[in-house]
Amino acid sequence: MTGLALPVAGVSPKMLFMKSPAYLQCITPSCGNTHDIDEVRFDCARCGSLLDVRYDWSQCDVPKSLAFFDARRNFSQHSEHGRLDRSGVWRFRELLPFARPDDLVTIGEGQTVLQVADDLGREVGMHAGRLYLQYEGFNPSGSFKDNGMAAAFTMARLLNRHRVACASTGNTSAALALFANQTKTSSGQAMEAIVLVGGDRIAPGKLSQALDYGAKTLQIDGDFDVCMRLVKEHAETLNLYLMNSLNPFRLEGQKTIMYRVLEAMRWEVPDWIVVPGGNLGNTSAFGKAFVELRDLGLIDRLPRLAVINAQGANTLHELFEHRGLRYSNGNYDSAKVASFYEEMDRNGVVADTVASAIEIGHPVNLPKALRSLEATRGLVRQACDDDILDGKALVGRYGFGCEPASGASVAGLRLLIQEKIISPDERVVCILTGHGLKDSGTTVNYHSSSCATNHAGSYANPPIKTKADLASLKKALAG
Ligand SMILES: *Cc1c(COP(=O)(O)O)cnc(C)c1O
Ligand SMILES: [Zn+2]
Repeated sequence: MTGLALPVAGVSPKMLFMKSPAYLQCITPSCGNTHDIDEVRFDCARCGSLLDVRYDWSQCDVPKSLAFFDARRNFSQHSEHGRLDRSGVWRFRELLPFARPDDLVTIGEGQTVLQVADDLGREVGMHAGRLYLQYEGFNPSGSFKDNGMAAAFTMARLLNRHRVACASTGNTSAALALFANQTKTSSGQAMEAIVLVGGDRIAPGKLSQALDYGAKTLQIDGDFDVCMRLVKEHAETLNLYLMNSLNPFRLEGQKTIMYRVLEAMRWEVPDWIVVPGGNLGNTSAFGKAFVELRDLGLIDRLPRLAVINAQGANTLHELFEHRGLRYSNGNYDSAKVASFYEEMDRNGVVADTVASAIEIGHPVNLPKALRSLEATRGLVRQACDDDILDGKALVGRYGFGCEPASGASVAGLRLLIQEKIISPDERVVCILTGHGLKDSGTTVNYHSSSCATNHAGSYANPPIKTKADLASLKKALAG
């Protein structure tokens, strides 16, 4: 990664990338069309498929072994790249080498925790030492989205874009807003964040972040899918740089969640990664991360991916598990997808789940997710809202807590153990995508038996209303 020109105000972005080993490529193998790295495109000009960020690895300094990264954990503020080594994204910069070290944007993302979760494991039927929880809620904005934003903001700044935008169920807008006010453009100003959130569906914790961090927040009369369509269609007309996971640089950043899991497991590949599926950015990024590591000879096998949909937003589950949709090396049956969406529209079906972060009916990364499932021999399950909230409650009781969408991974694990697809002895990593305090209202409702379904959850721990005297305290404590 040497030889790139310095970013100088007034120099066209093209100059900055002249010697980059990175380029954009259509994901469809039979097309394979490429675009320059500095072209602002989210689909292939020839066939309309999604784009990948690809690298000419022969021009990159790829480490010979993943243990290379161990030294980076002893980062020092004063070492040349201490700022980058402290980032859980850029510590692995050789594996997403689309920009020079000096140009990378970081706000301290990715300092997350892989926790051995024996008590939770026992509760769902796993043997000791086999279940791990990856806490992406410990990111600066409280969700995994920060991983992707570090990469996408790096690109936005290199492209000299000042206004960034996304559609969001909440966490993308929080991450976008935080990164925007922390990222200075070449003129020294903070970037401007514009977020489109769906009407009244956003969790207050997430909305509060977007407002607090100073994003221009548009509450759209419509759900996430409506917001997504709107921003995708009009972003460039409005001079907005799109930061949803349709932006392939987001996914480059999210690959590092898997690098950190491997790092914490001393570079041993687990048997399963269980992840909630919404817009399917993580599913796409995780598959790409493992396939690249294998192709580079850095790992010798892939974990299996288990993607967990909410029952009320189960597009991937329906298509993959019930209608037999397969990637088939890029020749997947797109008519099947189109007819499923037509059916949804005809029947007035819209995504509806308590897990608002995965309340998405038209996942934009569907083809990439199918590719990941093919590469990892993956599978898809769905969990109902009650099971999702029970999963969340278990993480609260036995772990550090998470938001509802993250609870879907534990609910899904439980199903897969019951189905004997995951055995108690396999090493399983559940990805906890967002922090428990993001959606605390839902948690309080769950414990207080006033949730939407109007019954307390299986693990409810209701508050006890008590008079302010000793006798009442005694009575309450005896109960
Ligand atoms: C965005 C989000 C998801 C969905 O992730 P995708 O990569 O879009 O599938 C799940 N959980 C939380 C907490 C999120 O913020
Ligand atoms: Zn193409």
